[in-house]
Amino acid sequence: MARKNKKSESLRRSLFTEFFVILLLVIAILVASIVRTANVKKQNASPDASQLASQNRITDAQSEAAATVAPTSQAASGSVETTLPGMTYLTAMTTLPGVSDTAAATGIYTTTPVNAVTSAPVASELSEDDKVVYLTFDDGPTDNTRNLLDILDRYGVKATFFVIHTYDGCEVQIKELYDRGQQIALHSYTHNYNIYRSVDTYFADLQQISDLVYNATGGYRSTLVRFPGGTSNTVSRKYCSGIMTTLSKELPARGYRYFDWDWDSTDAEANRQDTSVIVRNATKAIGNDNHVILLMHDAAAKTTTVEALPQIIEAYRSAGYRFDVLSMTSYTYQHKPNN
Ligand SMILES: [Zn+2]
Repeated sequence: MARKNKKSESLRRSLFTEFFVILLLVIAILVASIVRTANVKKQNASPDASQLASQNRITDAQSEAAATVAPTSQAASGSVETTLPGMTYLTAMTTLPGVSDTAAATGIYTTTPVNAVTSAPVASELSEDDKVVYLTFDDGPTDNTRNLLDILDRYGVKATFFVIHTYDGCEVQIKELYDRGQQIALHSYTHNYNIYRSVDTYFADLQQISDLVYNATGGYRSTLVRFPGGTSNTVSRKYCSGIMTTLSKELPARGYRYFDWDWDSTDAEANRQDTSVIVRNATKAIGNDNHVILLMHDAAAKTTTVEALPQIIEAYRSAGYRFDVLSMTSYTYQHKPNN
């Protein structure tokens, strides 16, 4: 009995051992399988794999878009990037009284070309070889305005004036600009860079100059805008980092269109720039660019701009350019925000 008992006990032990070994094997197989599954999942979720997946999606979307856009409508389909090599741009260095920020006279001069992105909702109808120059005058009206007007009238040329509130009563001059057929556009009421503190402070200032023009002209509501310092100014970031990026989206969303410049007369580089320097820089586009938005100033000190204007007009005219004003559907040139 004792032996039999011993025998059956050892049998039981051996069965138990076998069962235990099998259980361990099953557990090992299960664990191995779980680990493998996890690894496969991890691999699929790795950046490379997901990037590839999203790249494929983008490629698909792009090719779909490309297939639906006819080649002829590409120019009108939105964003066009232009880089003009070797150009020097000046973001407005106005010498206005009341432009408190000293940075307006420093640090905003860039020697690198600006990659400009035009994001006009309606692309201009200009063809590549259509030679057009848009004369633009910022910071008026002042004592120079009448002289500019007389020259423009003499040549039968229209320009775009980005006006500010230069003094109480400047409405009379803005009305004269309007009555003589010039394009009135909005620059700023105060031209103080502290308008860039926030979206609200910017638009409060813009509304003020808009209302001033509206009242001066007896009901003309301009929606054409040029930022003080241009879109690429680096002064605004001192008041609010990223504000130009926000505003450049907000303006079109609120029904405005904004304009920078692709050629600079450099009349703001000195308080009173040499006339010959202004003429030389203002006409550099000739032979280089058929679509020219030329930056000039109508500030009180800019008497040499007045002196230079006839030569500038004659140079463009004899090179076959026509003169036009900026509008909601015209050519535009917009700097990239630099904030
Ligand atoms: Zn200005």
